[in-house]
Amino acid sequence: MLDKIVMLDKKDYPDWYDDKLLGGYNSLPKGWRKITEVEYVHQFCCYGYSHIEFRQALMKKLGPFSSVYLYFYNGPEGLALVPVLEDCRYKRFDYYAFGCKHEFESVNKKILEEKYPEHLNKYTPGNCCNNYVCKKCRKFMFQDSSD
Ligand SMILES: [Zn+2]
Repeated sequence: MLDKIVMLDKKDYPDWYDDKLLGGYNSLPKGWRKITEVEYVHQFCCYGYSHIEFRQALMKKLGPFSSVYLYFYNGPEGLALVPVLEDCRYKRFDYYAFGCKHEFESVNKKILEEKYPEHLNKYTPGNCCNNYVCKKCRKFMFQDSSD
């Protein structure tokens, strides 16, 4: 299945879209890294996506201007599929991830006040409430472990 490709005006981009992190039509987003098919499927099924983008980006190993399908989570990170040409035919995908490779630390209210005050209003106290912040990009994440 192929989604209809539509050229967007910048005003139609999501609020979190940042050209500095995500590059342009012929480049790759920051944090670009190859992953296995198993990692791709696991992350795709766990997180889903909110925004899709098609690019023709320069990839050294695959030749000039490979087709790149970017699947963004709800922010400047996500997964990518790159169809690989072999003998002039597309025969397989290579799998990639992009964005921060998060290193989450568990936080409580005191740590948030000291190190990540911008997330204080998101803090949820409780025995089953796990609050985390990525040490690298400062992304906040909440997980309820009561189920
Ligand atoms: Zn991060």
